[in-house]
Amino acid sequence: MKKLVLLVCLLGGIAMAEEQQQAKKKQNIGIVIHGGAGTIMRENLSDEQEQSIKHDLQAALDAGYAVLEQGGDATQGVIAAIKVLENSVHFNAGKGAVYTKPGKHELDASIMRGSDLEAGAVAGVSFTKNPILAAEQVMLNSPHVMLGGSGADTFSKLKGLEQVENSYFDTQARYKAWQEVDAKTKAKEADQASQQDVLAAEFKFGTVGAVAVDTNGNLAAGTSTGGMTYKAWGRIGDSPVIGAGTYADNRSCGISATGHGEYFIRYAVAHDICARVRYQNKPLQQAAEEVIMQELKSMGGSGGIIGMDPEGNPVMVFNTPGMYRGLKIPNQAKVAIYGDE
Ligand code: ASP
Repeated sequence: MKKLVLLVCLLGGIAMAEEQQQAKKKQNIGIVIHGGAGTIMRENLSDEQEQSIKHDLQAALDAGYAVLEQGGDATQGVIAAIKVLENSVHFNAGKGAVYTKPGKHELDASIMRGSDLEAGAVAGVSFTKNPILAAEQVMLNSPHVMLGGSGADTFSKLKGLEQVENSYFDTQARYKAWQEVDAKTKAKEADQASQQDVLAAEFKFGTVGAVAVDTNGNLAAGTSTGGMTYKAWGRIGDSPVIGAGTYADNRSCGISATGHGEYFIRYAVAHDICARVRYQNKPLQQAAEEVIMQELKSMGGSGGIIGMDPEGNPVMVFNTPGMYRGLKIPNQAKVAIYGDE
């Protein structure tokens, strides 16, 4: 009799282990990325530019997905993808960042992991080649969540990250955009309100971000940006603000945002979406649409988000004509630019 009980227990144990194994196998890995949202129209991009942008988006997806496929964790997948986008001239992050009003570059980045809500961010760095790596160092090797300005650069140097001259981030295209805004703003110098209008209308895009889920079902999200063209010195947008531009929590979702940062900060966009998922049990797609297409849009906040739930379902929602974006999950891969793709 005892033997029989033992045998039943043993078989039960084996069945449970197999079930757990199965459940583990069912965990989908996946990555979703963006390269900024805005008035991105077909007539403004040549075929060559389009192809080159899509090529870099694809390279970022492949780099991130390769990490996940090899069993790497979600934060490493996110960082691998963002590094590719930071090093591409096409996006407003790292090389190719927009110019501040005084004609320099000040970069922001953040990263968060959903397993334990650890996060790191840097704001207004000027010499760190890949700000996402500095954000990672803040998360892993400091007691803080956000470091800003020269302190953040000093920290990243101390951590051995590659430093560059501020002019490394220069590109002709972004300089031209700066010159245009400069001319328009000077023409309206006396009038603060019209200056605001110019900045909103000239809002240039290309912030980058990634959200991934790994084989253990852990989520991570990261964002990196040069901010907004002609921003005042010291201006900090939503990208490095945890809960505004970036959020990840295994109990709900991971989000990376792009758009007019002041609105994303005030509406705590990334956290608001995750909160709707967690407390109202809404599917991620619905939660994201409510926030981006209703709340934010009705207030005049333009932009979008990418996100992923713990099962690896991606979302890409934006209230602008386009958003550079892409996703790679086990049975689907896609890169796109315009709203109708
Ligand atoms: N959200 C960024 C900022 O306000 C800009 C962008 O996404 O293009 O700094």
